[in-house]
Amino acid sequence: MDRVCWNPIEQLDWKEARKVQEQKLATQLRYLAERSIFYQRRFRAAGIALDAIRHVEDLERIPFTTKQELRDSLKEGPPLGLHLAADPRSVLQIQSSSGTTGSPSYVGLTRRDIETWSEMGARVYFANGFRPGDVCLHAFSMSKGFVGGVPVLQILLSMGVADIPVGADAGTERLLRAAFDQRPNALTGTPYFLLYLGEKAREVVGVDARDLWVRKISVGGEPGGGIPSVRQKIEELWNADVREMCGGTDLGCTYWAECEDKSGMHYLCPDLILVEIIDPATGEVQEVCPGLKGELVYTALEREASPLLRFRTGDHVEVTGTDCRCGRTGYKIRVVGRTDDMLIVKGVNVFPTAIKDVVASFEPRTTGAMKVVVDFPGHSTQGPLKVRVEHGDSVKGGELATLKADVEKKLRDALSFRPEVELVPPDTFEKPGVQKVSLIERVPVVGEG
Ligand SMILES: [Zn+2]
Repeated sequence: MDRVCWNPIEQLDWKEARKVQEQKLATQLRYLAERSIFYQRRFRAAGIALDAIRHVEDLERIPFTTKQELRDSLKEGPPLGLHLAADPRSVLQIQSSSGTTGSPSYVGLTRRDIETWSEMGARVYFANGFRPGDVCLHAFSMSKGFVGGVPVLQILLSMGVADIPVGADAGTERLLRAAFDQRPNALTGTPYFLLYLGEKAREVVGVDARDLWVRKISVGGEPGGGIPSVRQKIEELWNADVREMCGGTDLGCTYWAECEDKSGMHYLCPDLILVEIIDPATGEVQEVCPGLKGELVYTALEREASPLLRFRTGDHVEVTGTDCRCGRTGYKIRVVGRTDDMLIVKGVNVFPTAIKDVVASFEPRTTGAMKVVVDFPGHSTQGPLKVRVEHGDSVKGGELATLKADVEKKLRDALSFRPEVELVPPDTFEKPGVQKVSLIERVPVVGEG
């Protein structure tokens, strides 16, 4: 019989999964108390007795760990921070994240951590449709120590999928040449880059992407794969099945993924990462139900090198479902945006990714490309919010005014803020490449500097 998922735990009854979590949480807490200077200090400061933390609900007594605290920890205890809990000689691999605020952040992995990351990633790629024997063209960046590079390679090898590690950094021509020469049936990378890659195929190798051999695509690293119009475009371009996945460097590589239902990314690793969804304003833990919106908080359950407890990710998600025809029991999410990108327009939280979603729904009247013009300091404005939108090739004359009005109305209705849309010609904005596409354009504030 064909296996339904990579690990039977993905189908485990939710109550049973909780039991596994509680056992592992107790072990992990003991480990932290013994080995992590960072958490020893915090437990002392907060007056926490570890034997009082028996159930997942008790976790709420423990303060969150923030990104800033990790940055400070790295500075105070170089090279891997005071939160390094393993013997430095057992750290075999060091990965880095781009860090939206500038300087990179580093995490270490022991041999066992590498195996744990590979296990989580194998569940992800399996849910995304990858199977042993597949050949995958690797279109995430292979350089800079990003987790889309070597860790994805390790994941694919661990599950018996061949990897062609060309990487986004090598450029479109080299990638498309490999897609033509080596006939991979699978492809992985960021959604907008793969869209661009597909559009270049005819020019570079003389055939359309759909006439190459790729039939399954796993996208991640930025939101987009979950936007219906974007998914459909990539699927048509490559004649392939496109599924979304995500994760984050601080806890692993990738650990949420869509199954064949493509209705949100499943919580696949209850035994390895304990997830809480909190109200970002109050910090209170929310009960998971369809439609719930909140911020993800992670606790590593089997981490040796850099284990984190109640780590606030800044990732805002919406729960899209709590059961699924695929048989996996983990609930499903869609990423709504990140705290770092969030703008506040007259008190209303607005994510650029949500604006992009609305703009993309107007294709082909728009190209789907847009930028929010941030002409105010910080994240907060009393509006209106300026949005530059590429209109479609065929939109001319009077249709432009109608399009502007239509987009403004839909943005207002869907996201509850007052937009000021400026239409610009197609190809005004840069095309996606190795770098993620920025949805924000910061312009100098008048009167500043
Ligand atoms: Zn499913």
